[in-house]
Amino acid sequence: MTKILTGGCLCNRLRYEINGRIIDAGFCHCRLCQRANAAPVVAWGTTRVDHFAYSRGTPAMYFSSPLYQREFCAECGTQIGFRRRVEARMVDFTLASLDDPALVPPEYHIWQMSKLDWFDTGDRLPRHDDAGPDQG
Ligand SMILES: [Zn+2]
Ligand SMILES: [Zn+2]
Repeated sequence: MTKILTGGCLCNRLRYEINGRIIDAGFCHCRLCQRANAAPVVAWGTTRVDHFAYSRGTPAMYFSSPLYQREFCAECGTQIGFRRRVEARMVDFTLASLDDPALVPPEYHIWQMSKLDWFDTGDRLPRHDDAGPDQG
């Protein structure tokens, strides 16, 4: 997939473009994603950092762990990005912030160990208790 994908936050002050291959996409059930997005699960896509760019605005950042940063709109709070703080090669972006989220369907679940009992997507995608085989 090499078409340009676009997305942005709720208030439209933060916009981004992806011009390159989507490496993968999946649901993350970890507690950090749940808290950061105030949602039972977060669907992420992954692309190379040089294929991802903010086209409007500058994200606020929160360092949710020593190694990783979360990028979001300082005005409306929409979570957009997730990447290593230093020497990031990949960036994750929230699928629901895409202008057309239907273009990038999730392919797996990770951190299933903290999945909420009252929430289930009802799909047959692969489920991993931890970060899964594709991460790193
Ligand atoms: Zn915003
Ligand atoms: Zn997560």
